[in-house]
Amino acid sequence: MENPHRTTHHQRSGAPAPVPANSAPRASAQGDGFAALPLIDQLQRALAHEGYATPTPIQAQAIPPLLAGKDLFGVAQTGTGKTAAFLLPLMQHLVQVKRMPSRGRPRSLILAPTRELAAQIGERIDAYGRYLNLTHTVIYGGVGQRPQEQALTRGMDIVVATPGRLLDLMQQGFAKLDNVEVFVLDEADRMLDMGFIPDIKKVIATLPRERQSLFFSATMAPEVVALARTLVRDPVHIEIEPEKPTVDRIAQKLMFVDKDHKDELLVRLMRETGMDKVIVFTQMKHVANKVAQKLNASGISAAPIHGNKSQAAREQALAGFRSGKVRALVATDIAARGIDVEAITHVVNYDLPTEPETYVHRIGRTARAGAQGDAISFCCGNEKEYLREIERLIRRPIPVDTNQPFHSERARNATGADARPEPRQQRGGGQRYGARPRGQTKRGLQGRRR
Ligand code: AMP
Repeated sequence: MENPHRTTHHQRSGAPAPVPANSAPRASAQGDGFAALPLIDQLQRALAHEGYATPTPIQAQAIPPLLAGKDLFGVAQTGTGKTAAFLLPLMQHLVQVKRMPSRGRPRSLILAPTRELAAQIGERIDAYGRYLNLTHTVIYGGVGQRPQEQALTRGMDIVVATPGRLLDLMQQGFAKLDNVEVFVLDEADRMLDMGFIPDIKKVIATLPRERQSLFFSATMAPEVVALARTLVRDPVHIEIEPEKPTVDRIAQKLMFVDKDHKDELLVRLMRETGMDKVIVFTQMKHVANKVAQKLNASGISAAPIHGNKSQAAREQALAGFRSGKVRALVATDIAARGIDVEAITHVVNYDLPTEPETYVHRIGRTARAGAQGDAISFCCGNEKEYLREIERLIRRPIPVDTNQPFHSERARNATGADARPEPRQQRGGGQRYGARPRGQTKRGLQGRRR
């Protein structure tokens, strides 16, 4: 990954000449996809350079009102193209309303929940801004503060930040938000999950009244909606429902396997099938480490990525994955959010997620921007309850692969009672632990004995 602290001064196009809003050129090499949107030529060319032919639904719906200065309340997930939906109008505004950013007082602010996501937004600014002259910097914790202080002090058109570090810098006097013209809050639902709401409220309190505000969340949880109300004024409301279409494009498979065989099954799959660019999800950080170790020990290049890893280690893992050196990224959910890697061929749920929505988020990492994808989920006996909830959410059973070498009828027949946390069963000893969980059915017992 490029150094995310880098301040970008794109010079190639010289001084950006604002183009009237309705004169998007025909010759923008995209048919009438993006050309139908009133984006300036420099952005049109950058989109052509990226190979984007058609705006995604959220882009088509959000860009015109945002260019007209409206606030936005967007319900959309990663993978819908929401980043470009907010960046393109934001960048166009900054170019058309030309103003030198003051020292320590950015012209626009984008808040993101994780450093990966913030860094990726920074990369998108690089990409879409390649023919513009805008400056930006990305700010997050876990790394030295000095370069961030320096960038802020120079004066920035765009600051992308995670809330905690931004607040630190504000409290130390390195950033003041009274000049912010456009404010974007991305992934508000994750912010909520991660406990960032108090920090965000502090940030919002220092924004000027006159501003454009954009609010994005994957869900409409009541707390999220309440926060949005304090932020946006008379917003355009756009809701993109990616779940079903995305799920439809992904070939899903379920593998019943006993817990102790998950590693071997994963190794076999990685060896014997064409699984190349794979994200393996685990629930716990230490399991991510263990699985990555097992894969490496079996000659399959893998790297763990989770919250306990240093920024340098994560960036190295991601770079290795992007270049193809690392075949499998073993990730926890929070770390994986916002990892923007093209052409992920497979998602493997080594552990099923406890929240069914997370399943949809995870498998959506493959099949990005219209591509096909494969998702394989391991399910052992005590994950059955999670499986039931997932199938209820996606409104269909996930097809079971009984041909895989570690297929376990015991896991398949486990019932809800087995889904409760319980001491790990000893193998071979036939020992029983404690009393049977109450409500255990006959089928469950049979399943367990086998
Ligand atoms: P996002 O939802 O913003 O994380 O975007 C998901 C992915 O789709 C990113 O890799 C973008 O680079 C890509 N993308 C965004 N807009 C388009 C588009 N109009 N055409 C093709 N790819 C796109």
